[in-house]
Amino acid sequence: EIPNKSVPEAVLAAGRERPDAPALIDGLKGDVITHGQLAQYVDRVAANLHARGLRKGDVVAVFCPNTQWFPVVFHGIAAAGCVMSPINSLYTPDEIAFQLKDSGAKILITISMFLDRATAAAEKSPVDEIVVLDGAEGHANLFDLLGADAPSVQVDIDPAEDLVTLPYSSGTTGLPKGVMLTHRNLVANVTQCLPLLKTGADERIIAVLPFFHIYGLTVLMNQGLALGGTVVTLPRFELEDFLRTIQDHKITRAFVAPPILLALAKHPLVDQYDLSSLQSILSGAAPLDEQLALAVEQRLRAKGGSVTVAQGYGMTELSPVSHTTPDPDAMPPGFSGEVPKGSVGFAIPNTECRLIDPSTGEDAAPGERGELWVRGPQVMKGYLNNEEATRSTVDAEGWLHTGDVAIVDDNGIYTVVDRVKELIKYKGYQVAPAELEAVLINHPEIADAAVIGVPDKESGEELPKAFVVRAQGSELTEDAVMAYMGEKVAPHKKIRFVEFIDQVPKSSAGKILRKELKARA
Ligand code: ATP
Ligand code: MG
Repeated sequence: EIPNKSVPEAVLAAGRERPDAPALIDGLKGDVITHGQLAQYVDRVAANLHARGLRKGDVVAVFCPNTQWFPVVFHGIAAAGCVMSPINSLYTPDEIAFQLKDSGAKILITISMFLDRATAAAEKSPVDEIVVLDGAEGHANLFDLLGADAPSVQVDIDPAEDLVTLPYSSGTTGLPKGVMLTHRNLVANVTQCLPLLKTGADERIIAVLPFFHIYGLTVLMNQGLALGGTVVTLPRFELEDFLRTIQDHKITRAFVAPPILLALAKHPLVDQYDLSSLQSILSGAAPLDEQLALAVEQRLRAKGGSVTVAQGYGMTELSPVSHTTPDPDAMPPGFSGEVPKGSVGFAIPNTECRLIDPSTGEDAAPGERGELWVRGPQVMKGYLNNEEATRSTVDAEGWLHTGDVAIVDDNGIYTVVDRVKELIKYKGYQVAPAELEAVLINHPEIADAAVIGVPDKESGEELPKAFVVRAQGSELTEDAVMAYMGEKVAPHKKIRFVEFIDQVPKSSAGKILRKELKARA
């Protein structure tokens, strides 16, 4: 059952039962906000936004890295009936301005470090006030948002209709699109996921992936708070801070993306920290190689503890989760096997799935690949100001066409192959870059890798090209990489070109920025 409540009502409910327990801890400074304080601060932010003239439906843009104040601000905005549009911390002023204009944001909340970019962007947008949380001359700050004078507000929210957040998709495959998510979308997704976690209110979740991405917002922030647990924030991924925070705060659960697992598998620093409190590491947002997941699990277990490494899948349009691997003691009734680490687990409760054969438009035959379609209460209301894109993504029967290719086994376990748009088409074959990348990073002298298709003028075919980051001290050659791949994969998947680079460009949510690589090629 999905509670018919607003996001703050639903997500902060468990915390009300344990007001003195820590809700949010700053992983670097150690500052604590208890669940009781959180509820109080949220009330204040809503009151002060209202006093500043904001009303139900107004958009408030938030351009901040993860801090313990981000959840306070988000829930305050939501309690005021306003819509939070989170902005990627790496965006340039033009990118920020695009989102501010497109979303029609009235207020922009940021930090002093980002103020230059925020100001440049706000000038070209409808924003009429910038709030700087840590203070800047001429601007309201966090204390103004927490001020005691404004009277509390009670806003009538219709969870099924009213938006709570307007995140923008990552823009991996085109211009970012504003994704309209309702209170019900987010409450549903948290409600769908929580029964799959088994450790309850003692949970301590590390929040290093950005809250401005829907994965951070729903899974790291809201699941953790809805458990009545503790969310420990880090502003960015620095391996040492990450490891020390897990050790010092006895973190039980980490939701991460593949680049963090790459570091956990390969970096020598990992051995210097006690990570035995970790029960679960769940990866999402981009394809994770099975061998890499296994390597991390084995390495950490050898140091003590009993961590499980597994995968989930989602997208902004799904609030974001549709598939995940439950905790070992929360598997679906009747299932007793192991969930393969290369898979994304089961469809979460209350979620229907189909796999559609692109050539026929019909359901794919059992065991065959197809485009994943998803239907459930977490499916977005639509794209903002873009009815055409909405119609081509969510069909009349409510199925969301994910644009990802997947396959399902007899147990109902799904494996995501890659995006339809990224598949490299070669002589009638479809080659998934993710598969080739997985093989490449298993080479001991390869630290990281990315694959794209480059057009071949003569044959008109697309040929796989690998961008490779050599491990420290390695003198691996292009020929050696091609020879290695020649042994590992079928001839039509062979890597035809290799370019060595220092770093694979990735988004802060952990996705390979193939657009950049394509521009370079
Ligand atoms: P845009 O839609 O603007 O091009 P995007 O699709 O990267 O950007 P997100 O909504 O952040 O924006 O990402 C969702 C996508 O991430 C999915 O469609 C899928 O391609 C990928 N993804 C998420 N989890 C996984 C996973 N476990 N394995 C493989 N791919 C994943
Ligand atoms: Mg997408």
